Amino acid sequence: MQLSKTLLTLRRKAAPLPMSTIHIALDRARAALSSIGKTPELDAELLLSQVLSCERSFLHAHPEAHLAESQSQRYEELLRRRASGEPLAYIVGVKEFWSLPLRVTPDVLIPRPETELLVELALARIPAHAASEIADLGTGSGAIAIAIAKERPESRINATDVSKPALTVAAGNARRLGHTNIRFLIGDWFSPLRGRFHLIISNPPYVGISDPHLQDPALQFEPRKALISAADGLHDLGLIARKAGVFLNPGGWLIVEHGYDQGARVRELFEHYGLREIETHLDLAGHERATLGRRVG
Ligand code: GLN
Repeated sequence: MQLSKTLLTLRRKAAPLPMSTIHIALDRARAALSSIGKTPELDAELLLSQVLSCERSFLHAHPEAHLAESQSQRYEELLRRRASGEPLAYIVGVKEFWSLPLRVTPDVLIPRPETELLVELALARIPAHAASEIADLGTGSGAIAIAIAKERPESRINATDVSKPALTVAAGNARRLGHTNIRFLIGDWFSPLRGRFHLIISNPPYVGISDPHLQDPALQFEPRKALISAADGLHDLGLIARKAGVFLNPGGWLIVEHGYDQGARVRELFEHYGLREIETHLDLAGHERATLGRRVG
C-alpha cells in the first residue's frame, strides 16, 4: 500500500511539466521532433500556431506568453501525432500549393511542390483569353485544377476522380477559394468525360508496388490508391497515354507527372500511342518529373 503510493508520487513527478510559455513549449517540441522530417523547427511552430490560433510571427514576438493547461495538452497531442510520422499537412488540415491554401484529409494525396511544374507547363499552353476545355484526371485535393482555374479563369476545367471523398475535398477547396470554372466528375480517369479537350493533365499514381520508397514513414498515411500503380508504376500512365488521343483536340496537349526514373518509358508510351512534340521537364531537384506530348493533325 505504502509502496504503491510512493510509486504514484514518483510517476506524477516524472510526468511532463506543463509547457508554461511559448518559448518553453517550442524548445520541448523541437527536441521531440528533432528526428522527424526535414523541418522540425518549422513544424513545431506551425503546430503551436494551430493550437493558439495565431500567426507564426506571434510566437516570435511573444515568447514569454503563457499557455493555458488545455493548450499545452492539445499541443502535446499534436506533437505526439507528428512524432509518430503523421504528415504535418494532415494534422493541420492544410497544404499550400501554388500559393493556395488547400484543405487536405487522408482521403487525398498531399500536394507536392514538384507538381507545380505541371501547372507551369499547362499555363504555357493554355491561352489567357479563351474558353479552353481542360481535363484534370485524378484531381485528388483539386490542386492542379484549382491552380489552373485561378490563372485561366476563362477556361473550363473538368476534374475527375474515382474517389468520392476526394472529390468532396476538391470541390470544397474550389468553393472556398471562389473558383467556379471547374466541374468535378466522379469516375475513373476519362470515364466521366464527354467531348474533346485542349489540354489533359494528370498526376496519377506511379509508384511501383515493390518500390522501397513506399516504406517511407511519411507515405504510410497517404491513400495507397493515389500512390501505387501496377506494371512498375506505369499502368495508369500507360492507360492515360493510350486514351488521350481520343479525348484531345488536334493540336491538344497531354501533360503527366511521373517518377524520377520513368521519363524514358513515359516518352516511349507517348510515342507509341501517337503523341508528338514529346518533351520531359525536370523538377527543382533536377529529376525528370513531367512529360508532355501533343496530338497532331
Ligand atoms: N511524388 C509522390 C511520391 O513520390 C508520388 C505521387 C504519385 O504517385 N502521383 O511520394
